[in-house]
Amino acid sequence: MNKCIKLLGHSSKSFIQRHSFKYSTKVNHLFAFTEEELMLKESVAKFAKSVIAPKVAEMDEAEKLDPIVLKGLFENGLMGIETGNEYNGCNASFTSAILAVEELAKIDPSISVVCDVQNTLVNTLFRKYGNKDQSQKYLSKLATDTVGCFCLSEAGSGSDAFALQTRAEKQGDHYIINGSKMWITNSLEAEIFLVFANVDPSKGYKGITCFIVEKNMGVEVNKKEKKLGIRASSTCSLTFDNVKVPAENVLGTVGHGYKYAIEILNEGRIGIAAQMIGLAQGAFDHTMPYLFQRKQFNSRIGDFQGLQHQYAQAAVNIEAARLLTYNASRLKEAGKDFVKEAAMAKLYASQVAADVSSKCIEWMGGVGFTKDFPVEKYFRDSKVENAKL
Ligand SMILES: Cc1cc2nc3c(=O)[nH]c(=O)nc-3n(C[C@H](O)[C@H](O)[C@H](O)COP(=O)(O)OP(=O)(O)OC[C@H]3O[C@@H](n4cnc5c(N)ncnc54)[C@H](O)[C@@H]3O)c2cc1C
Repeated sequence: MNKCIKLLGHSSKSFIQRHSFKYSTKVNHLFAFTEEELMLKESVAKFAKSVIAPKVAEMDEAEKLDPIVLKGLFENGLMGIETGNEYNGCNASFTSAILAVEELAKIDPSISVVCDVQNTLVNTLFRKYGNKDQSQKYLSKLATDTVGCFCLSEAGSGSDAFALQTRAEKQGDHYIINGSKMWITNSLEAEIFLVFANVDPSKGYKGITCFIVEKNMGVEVNKKEKKLGIRASSTCSLTFDNVKVPAENVLGTVGHGYKYAIEILNEGRIGIAAQMIGLAQGAFDHTMPYLFQRKQFNSRIGDFQGLQHQYAQAAVNIEAARLLTYNASRLKEAGKDFVKEAAMAKLYASQVAADVSSKCIEWMGGVGFTKDFPVEKYFRDSKVENAKL
């Protein structure tokens, strides 16, 4: 846990101290967080403000993840939040990962997606289904300096994910993988690819198996998509042309890949919800000070009742999405059924993020429509969640 909290010593003025206006965006709630969770949340917020915030516009413009930001994610333990100490991880709770993703998304949703995919998809699959050798070999690297990615979608199989065409044929003590993947987050930076391929199409989706594929086994990383939002996060297509993977690199059981994918996407929805509440809050936090600086008709525009009704509603919606998200997270941790609640959280938080970031642009008038303010970026970033499972 140590490396996760080392930034705590930094001091910075609170949001309220920096902006003297009468509306506070702070909300109290009674969700019981542990001291560790709160410390992690605070340290991530400080890291995001000091290291990521100055680079957000530049990374968006260049469509590139700054290596210093990626290094900072690793150095602060944010790429192995739930990973055990024995594998160089923080050994923290699932809710810690959710809080970290939320804090990162407040500053830059492109960066929260990098962290979210690594933690809630890649690391979780290893922790749940990896054997001891696989965990030792890969989990430590993933927590320390190596990016992983989750390779399920293909050009012909998106929503219908299990119609995937990538094949893995057993040859002696190896599998030969052929096929292609599309839309793979983090794939430009990744060294480790969790690839879903069918070992026996006659069994339909029950042939789907998850393989640990190292880049140097022959993964071809192709075109990087030019996207509307989360532009600093890489999204590429991949080709597997007779890629030879040792049989020991099957993750879990042959033919169980579809179960793992469903499970991980169910959990992953809570991470997506966290990204969306962070995004909505980030857009809101950037907008509110302006409403109390900008004067029209000899009055601060934030004092007009027509606007007050709107931003009060936005604050309520963000908080409702947050509570849905935290509730789903705690249900999952408690080993209770959380699938419906996670889906509700993801759906509602995505709607709130798109709505709030859109409204923020409107409330700022002309300047909200320019790239001089980050609000238009939050709006572009919010659209990604409609494209995800
Ligand atoms: C930025 C980004 C990052 C991504 N990262 C990853 C990743 O890391 N790994 C990965 O494996 N995938 C990733 N994806 C892929 C993502 O999961 C797919 O885009 C998603 O599953 C949707 O698939 P599709 O794009 O093929 O859309 P389609 O499946 O073609 O859907 C198009 C539209 O049809 C609708 N539709 C489809 N079926 C039905 C139905 N039965 N009834 C009603 N409407 C329907 C959909 O809701 C959608 O509106 C990423 C995508 C994006 C955009």
